[in-house]
Amino acid sequence: RFITLEGGEGAGKSTQIRLLAQALTDRGVEVVTTREPGGGSDGAAAIRGLLVAGDTPWQRLTEALLHNAARHENVEALVRPALARSAWVLCDRYVDSTVAYQGYAMGVDRGVLADLHRLSTGGLMPDLTLVLDLPVEAGLARAGSRPGAEDRYERMGMDFHERLRQGFLDIAAHDPGRCAVIDATGDIATIQARLLAAVERRLGP
Ligand code: C5P
Repeated sequence: RFITLEGGEGAGKSTQIRLLAQALTDRGVEVVTTREPGGGSDGAAAIRGLLVAGDTPWQRLTEALLHNAARHENVEALVRPALARSAWVLCDRYVDSTVAYQGYAMGVDRGVLADLHRLSTGGLMPDLTLVLDLPVEAGLARAGSRPGAEDRYERMGMDFHERLRQGFLDIAAHDPGRCAVIDATGDIATIQARLLAAVERRLGP
């Protein structure tokens, strides 16, 4: 099973993915957790450094290409081998982040992004995508209170983050068989219970 978590800044993905991995491990499932950009290989981690920590003003298509390069590393080195031995893979961000950030929020043509996804992954899609949704102000307040988390996306304007949120909701609305929108307001335990319920509903107990 291949599960991805998606959402804007401060949605709580990294905390929730850790708890979800623990809950599934407790049920005897082999769980492999990874993230994008950066998971899967040293090369992917180096690409993350270029994208997230750096201040290089990339052309937006270059940015999309770099995310896809990191994704190719993650999929080939980690995701496919894990799925092949029937592990469950939990990935913090995947193709929908590229479509929401570089597509909806930054304006790269979505047909181009779909082509890049086919090229970099052979079109590998998750069985289930959990979209953590919360109002932009709430997400930015959470992200801003996270020590050392100031990255350049968090410094974009409100309209950028609104386009991003609507992008994720639009993606989910167009692919309801794969995507579940999770209300990401409330405390950690409440959100985790919503996530687990969605996983059980979609993928069985
Ligand atoms: O979720 P995380 O904070 O690890 O993501 C790293 C950064 O990369 C985020 O600020 C996110 O906005 C950005 N990103 C992006 N395009 C993607 C994936 C992530 O701009 N396709």
